[in-house]
Amino acid sequence: MKISVSTDGLEVLPFLVIGSGIAGLYTALKLAEIAEVTLITKETLQESNTTYAQGGIAAALNPPDSPELHYRDTIKAGAGLCLPAAVEVLVNEGPERVRELITLGVPFDSEAGSLVMTREAAHSYSRVLHADGDATGREISEVLAKLARANPKIKIKENYYALALLTGAEGCYGVLALDERGTLIPLLAQATILAAGGCGQLYLHTTNPEVATGDGLALAFRAGAPLADLEFVQFHPTALHLDKAPCFLITEAVRGEGGILRNTKGHRFMPAYHQLAELAPRDVVARSVLLEMEKTGADHVLLDLSLLSPELIKHRFPNIYETCLSYGLDITKESIPVAPAAHYMMGGVATDLNGRTGLPHLFACGEVANPGVHGANRLASNSLLDGLVFGHRIFAYLQNHPLSFTQLPAVLDATYNLETDPRQIDADWLALKQMASAKLGIIRQEEGLREAQTFFQAVTPEPKPVLTPHYLELQNMRLLARLMLAAALKRRESRGSHYRADFPETDPAWVKRIIHYPHGMELLPADQPFTWAW
Ligand SMILES: Cc1cc2nc3c(=O)[nH]c(=O)nc-3n(C[C@H](O)[C@H](O)[C@H](O)COP(=O)(O)OP(=O)(O)OC[C@H]3O[C@@H](n4cnc5c(N)ncnc54)[C@H](O)[C@@H]3O)c2cc1C
Repeated sequence: MKISVSTDGLEVLPFLVIGSGIAGLYTALKLAEIAEVTLITKETLQESNTTYAQGGIAAALNPPDSPELHYRDTIKAGAGLCLPAAVEVLVNEGPERVRELITLGVPFDSEAGSLVMTREAAHSYSRVLHADGDATGREISEVLAKLARANPKIKIKENYYALALLTGAEGCYGVLALDERGTLIPLLAQATILAAGGCGQLYLHTTNPEVATGDGLALAFRAGAPLADLEFVQFHPTALHLDKAPCFLITEAVRGEGGILRNTKGHRFMPAYHQLAELAPRDVVARSVLLEMEKTGADHVLLDLSLLSPELIKHRFPNIYETCLSYGLDITKESIPVAPAAHYMMGGVATDLNGRTGLPHLFACGEVANPGVHGANRLASNSLLDGLVFGHRIFAYLQNHPLSFTQLPAVLDATYNLETDPRQIDADWLALKQMASAKLGIIRQEEGLREAQTFFQAVTPEPKPVLTPHYLELQNMRLLARLMLAAALKRRESRGSHYRADFPETDPAWVKRIIHYPHGMELLPADQPFTWAW
């Protein structure tokens, strides 16, 4: 539905940032060097995927590692769909951005004055910096949040839910937000930066916190900005699978340090699936784990840490050690029960290399955005970097190209969906997650995808709901599921994280990206960048 919002008496802010993960906080801090910034976030400042990131942030800081090697690894992981020019930006500008984080005060782990770097799956070199062992995201988020709070040019509004983007003749004019009391508040800005993160909550098992409900993707699409690569969802192969414990990530670095995957019968299975065994690409490990679970009839496999000393486990993975211990599992003595979980959305709002979207005055960065760096599969530890690099690009662009509307319309449009029965929100959420997990998960096929498509098309819009974030998030997830299903059906091949049991081979004719425009899907050659007329 579309509502009209009056602009009478409203101020147009210079910059509005939506989201407070690494992308939103960092971009806000940079933009505050130019002008005042308003940042809204739907819960507290530090509730984000960023805060839960464990493994680290990848950058080729010192020879003999190099941006060229990092480029090669990223392109290989992306399975033919990375945009080369975007990857070049990521790996070449990444080291400077990481050094900037160090200058801002992020305490990356070091020994004898040198940064400690870890090697993760599919990286050809040890280039992953981490902080407090496996609490990298929390450390980054704490530093950036503290700086943002202390910055007089940044106005922070917590518990502000972005409900719809405000649109008019010149593009995006800001956002219609819902505050804690349920009041609708229009916020206008010359430039709106969407940094609202991913959508792991579409699935029953996910490493993502509850805020990851794909709002940014849905808002951008309804407002007219194209989305790209939505069929590519990364499932992390190893999330804790214990009764009553949350779906807590067990970072890849544990396998990097020597953790071995065994099925519940004690058999080490990864060497039979891939030459890199436990360090094979994530999609291969996730599928192999799923197949072993099916074979043994178990709902998990085991991550055996017996090759790691108790000292190493406690020192290198303090967060994982303590969390497992709090659920009665001592990982210095026992294997960890693990299963795959939805982890990262490779697709997102299509952007150019300056973070500009297809909707004038709207920018996007971080997990919600898709400048083309991850292709069909993200290389581990590239996403924190992606948020920084493209956040900085937005800042640099706006510094050189100040934006202002020629005219402010008297009314703006806000578009959102209300298509489920508000009396059964929780039941509908559960049904949505069950359907997406069963049919749009690690292994897909035509029949299941079509079944899910029918399910997600059913609409029961009455009676009129009270607008709450939980209800609106459900509407966003349904829209996103429909778009993801359409792309997953169209891509009749397997590539990267998208695996079709009925089309298990990679098809060279499919080196193309699927773009969702408001009028329908279109294909784009993988090496072709987005260019927008504004
Ligand atoms: C458990 C876990 C471990 C990970 N480990 C790593 C790692 O080691 N290295 C790595 O590179 N990546 C890792 N990732 C991925 C990485 O953390 C994310 O991709 C990255 O942090 C995304 O940052 P972001 O700023 O784009 O989004 P987020 O950090 O998710 O922030 C999004 C923000 O938007 C807000 N928001 C959302 N919707 C709305 C709305 N409607 N209105 C207002 N605000 C809204 C949210 O509340 C949140 O503040 C991990 C992810 C998880 C979940």
